[in-house]
Amino acid sequence: MTDIYSFTEEEKETINYLKQIVTIKYGSCKNFKFKKEKYIIQKKIYKTVILYAPQSFNENTVEAYILKNKDIIYKLAYHCFYPKKTKIPHDKILYLGRLYNFKLKPEIHNTYNIDEENLIIYAGKNLLNRENLIKFYHKQASYIFPARVSMCAEKIKLNIKAVKTGVFKTYWGSCGAGIIKLNERLVLSPLNTIDSIIYHELAHILVPNHSKEFYTVLEKIYPSYYKDHIWLTLFMPAEYPPKTVE
Ligand SMILES: [Zn+2]
Repeated sequence: MTDIYSFTEEEKETINYLKQIVTIKYGSCKNFKFKKEKYIIQKKIYKTVILYAPQSFNENTVEAYILKNKDIIYKLAYHCFYPKKTKIPHDKILYLGRLYNFKLKPEIHNTYNIDEENLIIYAGKNLLNRENLIKFYHKQASYIFPARVSMCAEKIKLNIKAVKTGVFKTYWGSCGAGIIKLNERLVLSPLNTIDSIIYHELAHILVPNHSKEFYTVLEKIYPSYYKDHIWLTLFMPAEYPPKTVE
């Protein structure tokens, strides 16, 4: 007899999210086995997480297994390369991991009003214009990032001298001499993803390199590091400001 697992709504949501990270392949194996696999599509190299499952196992059993092993999946997907799943319609704005509608409100000039509940950004300038959009992202990053850094640093009792933002091609953040630099592009990602980068940089104050010890320290100060970081792997648009679709 096989156990039938019944999942709560929250668990179902987690399972659907995990299925975006792990591809399930049924085969002649006797037991579950995770693997990272490389493949090429249109000259681009990707590396994603695969779960090999025995042919005889039903979907319910496989789902229960991925749910139970979610932390392993998040960790395996770290440093993988996924085809990006974000599609931004031409009339929407990606901001803090969500798609917002835009409404022009000339009377507010160079300021913005953000209605988080109804997902509307009001601005005095047309944000569907590339230059105005970059200005918006820049302004939001320069006030959100320092606030987030002090909050995170305070939690783990570390001191930071300054926070700088910029658009960097090769890194999300850096840390040296008490100064944390954060990539402005992170303003596209959810707050917990921004936090994962901040904690990564804060952990460098304790361990400067990327040794095993570093990741042990990082997981200790921020246990959901891999889970929160994964948004960048799955969804961060390749271009900045992001390209939209018709
Ligand atoms: Zn690092």
